[in-house]
Amino acid sequence: MSIDLQTDLARSSAGTFGDCWACQRRHSLPDGNARAHALEMMREFEAISRLDYLASDLDVDPRLCFANLFGEGRGNMFGVLECEDRDGQTVILRAFSSLWDGIRQIEGWVQPVLSAEVYDEMILPAQQEIKAMTKEANVLDVESAAHAEILARRKNISQVLWKKMCASYRFRNFRGEERSLAGTVLPGTPITGGMGECCAPKLLNHAARHGLRPLGMAEFYWGSDSEGGQRVPGEFYASCEARCRPILGFMLCGLEDLLNDGAWPADDL
Ligand SMILES: [Zn+2]
Ligand SMILES: [Zn+2]
Repeated sequence: MSIDLQTDLARSSAGTFGDCWACQRRHSLPDGNARAHALEMMREFEAISRLDYLASDLDVDPRLCFANLFGEGRGNMFGVLECEDRDGQTVILRAFSSLWDGIRQIEGWVQPVLSAEVYDEMILPAQQEIKAMTKEANVLDVESAAHAEILARRKNISQVLWKKMCASYRFRNFRGEERSLAGTVLPGTPITGGMGECCAPKLLNHAARHGLRPLGMAEFYWGSDSEGGQRVPGEFYASCEARCRPILGFMLCGLEDLLNDGAWPADDL
């Protein structure tokens, strides 16, 4: 089986798309009104300069202030998903990509794909252990047996962690199917770090689990100019090629049918 990926890639105009192994074709999601909502979000960013937009001025978390988050060369991707609920109401979901120094959940933003329990009980302790081992290794003579031993142990722990993480992600698509990271990635594509931590998978996963039908998606960069100038604050970008595109084919699968049939995904709650 082969999908004509490269030629399709050049033709696609939507920023959110991926190739689906099951359907043997590409699924995509247009911008819709999401860009307009994203521009509103940027105005909000300019006005309040923090991520906890639902918190009152008295309850502001200093860790979430842009002054603390976006130093020189630092910024982040943000995403907006315009959805429709069963009552025909517009629901605007928002997401930030990856982790903020261990900050994973902020009120008013969709949750990460990897559950908080898995993260707190499995990922965080292992990451701390790996960090501690790195510190320990750094003070040892690089030629010593102790140094080699600690590096070998660290490698082993990170490999085990990586496998556990891959198995713990649960991606839901619009057919109601749920898969691990390995099952979600387009066959033949390598699994890389950070897959599932971008805005697009978080937003789609949330919609698919909460009875929401996506209509449009937009992703933009905010913060300082990125190093090397690849990302400009306020600019819109397509879902990333390395981490998102290989999983978006599965994640978007079933959406067209829902829209055609006037149906909604199941609601977990
Ligand atoms: Zn991405
Ligand atoms: Zn499909």
